[in-house]
Amino acid sequence: MRQVAILGSTGSIGVNTLDVIRAHPDRFQVVALTAGKQVDRLAEQCAEFRPAIAVVSDAEDAARFEKLLCDQNIDTQVMYGPQALVSAVTESGCDTVMAAIVGAAGLVPTLAAAKAGKRVLLANKEALVMSGNLFMEAMKLGGGELLPIDSEHNAIFQCLPVQFTKTPHSNLGVEELWLTASGGPFRNTPLEQLNTITPEQACAHPNWVMGRKISVDSATMMNKGLELIEAFWLFGLPLEKIKVLIHPQSVVHSMVRYRDGSVIAQLGQPDMRTPIAYGLAWPDRIDAGVAPLSLTQLASLSFAEPDLERFPCLALAFEAAKAGGTAATVLNAANEIAVAAFLDEGLPYLQIPAIVEKVLHAIPAVNADSIELILDIDEQARAVAREHAQASIKNH
Ligand code: NAD
Ligand code: MG
Repeated sequence: MRQVAILGSTGSIGVNTLDVIRAHPDRFQVVALTAGKQVDRLAEQCAEFRPAIAVVSDAEDAARFEKLLCDQNIDTQVMYGPQALVSAVTESGCDTVMAAIVGAAGLVPTLAAAKAGKRVLLANKEALVMSGNLFMEAMKLGGGELLPIDSEHNAIFQCLPVQFTKTPHSNLGVEELWLTASGGPFRNTPLEQLNTITPEQACAHPNWVMGRKISVDSATMMNKGLELIEAFWLFGLPLEKIKVLIHPQSVVHSMVRYRDGSVIAQLGQPDMRTPIAYGLAWPDRIDAGVAPLSLTQLASLSFAEPDLERFPCLALAFEAAKAGGTAATVLNAANEIAVAAFLDEGLPYLQIPAIVEKVLHAIPAVNADSIELILDIDEQARAVAREHAQASIKNH
């Protein structure tokens, strides 16, 4: 029986994780759930799954949450604040952690899971992008298992030989990783229309239902940029061997090209319950509640090179990946601030790449060798990005 802690249980990945767990009570027990602000949803989840620990953001939410639990006689221990997210990992008795908080807020508890030797199911790509080397070292020292949940990386993991993590990729004949990308809702939108894009349009992804931040990242293709950096750290191939391919149907979730001419792909419905179930039960395969894929009902599968002019965020991510060190931390922080300003404060859509570019060029990359330094650079980059965002909103 796996004991599972879910960081970010009220989000899109969190809810899908509970959906898979719900169908397999003989395999999984939920021991900790955490949420940012959605206290009512978290209380419903606690009523159903009865975790030992539940975490909310602050004291005020905790008081309201505690009352909701008390009214239903639920004896889950309530905690709050960033340090409590770490406690949910280290004190709940979990052996498996679903890292599904969005953004930098997930870094410290996910790193705690890595250090503690847990099976880490990594959805929170920003945590790995920010801390790359440090995170992979923590995984190695902790001795746990890192299983990618992001659909592309999960696909690649499925297409690699099982001995991959223990044998150099060159000995196994792995030549290239091909990350597929849908191209998002604006793949064919005339460029001159992009500046009037609204948050609702940006969040209406053609194939996937996801949280708002990752939906905007998919529209700008910063998501694929973050995924490129994620793949670099997860699989240890040189950057030039990781390629991005536009594949609008989102059926081929990614591919591995081998030396002998073979290309191995993983296909499936665009439903995150497939990679979630794979990570939860690995190396077993369990029912994920996903409809079977019918190839004969697909009109076609097509592939194309990404257009870096249309998607400058992808080019910026390539640039940060090449620069190495803290460049990816800066890229991620600037993007988080710009996307939040676009979603909530009226920042024009095309200012997202403009702000990321300015911040990336304002803060020189240094070696990312301690968590303190990474958090400090993250804070600096956010401050610079906020200034630019405020100025753009005022001028608009
Ligand atoms: P979401 O916005 O739906 O959910 C985010 C979760 O994190 C919620 O439970 C929220 O309460 C919590 N949270 C947010 N800010 C917090 C904070 N400051 N402190 C504590 N908790 C906080 O996001 P999502 O779509 O589920 O994505 C989660 C992560 O998974 C992201 O990193 C995303 O890139 C990645 N991911 C998501 C999908 C998907 O299909 N949704 C696919 C691949 C990867
Ligand atoms: Mg993905």
